[in-house]
Amino acid sequence: MDSIRHIYRIGFGPSSSHTMGPSLAAEQYKKHYPEAHSYRVTLYGSLAATGKGHLTDQAIIEMLAPKEVQFTWKPQTFLPFHPNAVTFESIDKEGNFSNEWTVYSTGGGAITDGTENRLSEKIYPLTKMTDILNWCTKNGRTFWEYVHIHESPGYLEHLTEVWEVMQQAVQSGIENEGVLPGGLNLPRKASSYFIRAQSLKDSLKSRSLVFAYALAVSEENASGGRVSTAPTCGSSGVLPAVLYHAKHAHGFSDSKITKALATAGLIGNIVKENASISGAEVGCQGEIGTACAMASAAVNQLFGGTPQQIEYAAEMGLEHHLGLTCDPIGGLVQVPCIERNAHAAARALDCNMYALLSDGKHFVSFDKIVQTMKVTGRDLPSLYRETAEGGLALFAAPDLD
Ligand code: SF4
Repeated sequence: MDSIRHIYRIGFGPSSSHTMGPSLAAEQYKKHYPEAHSYRVTLYGSLAATGKGHLTDQAIIEMLAPKEVQFTWKPQTFLPFHPNAVTFESIDKEGNFSNEWTVYSTGGGAITDGTENRLSEKIYPLTKMTDILNWCTKNGRTFWEYVHIHESPGYLEHLTEVWEVMQQAVQSGIENEGVLPGGLNLPRKASSYFIRAQSLKDSLKSRSLVFAYALAVSEENASGGRVSTAPTCGSSGVLPAVLYHAKHAHGFSDSKITKALATAGLIGNIVKENASISGAEVGCQGEIGTACAMASAAVNQLFGGTPQQIEYAAEMGLEHHLGLTCDPIGGLVQVPCIERNAHAAARALDCNMYALLSDGKHFVSFDKIVQTMKVTGRDLPSLYRETAEGGLALFAAPDLD
């Protein structure tokens, strides 16, 4: 299992698999073949189906600039390794093509060429929740300590920076107003939710502010702002909303929150290792479901949950998103994505409370839910896996310019 740094990648929205991953791939390709006169880029499957709405071409053009880029879009062609595939080719002055390289954007900004994971850094000996939970029980420790023991030096600095970026995204998102780009003419809501929440009392105010924080980050992401994946860009509003709320409503310190980020990162890592965090592979259950599990675990740890209660909170966060499809209208990371972040943040707080009231014992383990999510995702037709061809994308789409 990789470093949790790969769960938290700092970059620009709106999509980790459609902008961050392809941009990284373009950067690597350019480094290998800088002498090319121009480039041809072929996008396949889900990358081609929703690449325009997710600004994939823009991300690649910016990375390969000043060289020209020709694009070929093949939304009906799914390569066997992963539905998000892209092929780079160099073009010389005479128009000859060479140096073909196919790479896959596997979710959360990670890329691989299918032979070697270029960002691979297998540092965790245990990759199943049950085994890690047993380790915690045997050693009298908890999840963030497992992370602390196995991560490489500098990871705490990375988590500190991630927390900074998350807080800035909440604050910018609350400040910024106007219409989101892309053609749906969707007005930003975080600012007005934040203002209206101020006039409410107690629990209503508290929950309304959590909505505002999640909307803020998701709207920043949708407009190409700077966010941290958690575990993806599309689901990047859930964890910051819950942690920002924990800091401002309950006074948890930045140091405690950094430890909660470590535990949340471990949860995301387990899902990534044993199933997927890619909407193109398993639908939105892998993105929002995982984000909710991460946030549920993080906040449960902050409120003093035992390892068993933390596992239970994470399990519920994912279980009750099983089967959730990915069907973004217009291929944009806006509807249903933005609202879905707000609801998942609220659900994470409920999972925390539910688990805290329990003794941590429950019927289905987190590992079983992860396995179920993987199989459910595999059984979902491609219509519901980030192709914008089914569900809301089909039945609720307005005519776009
Ligand atoms: S529906 Fe979910 S998985 Fe699909 S783009 Fe939106 S947030 Fe990502």
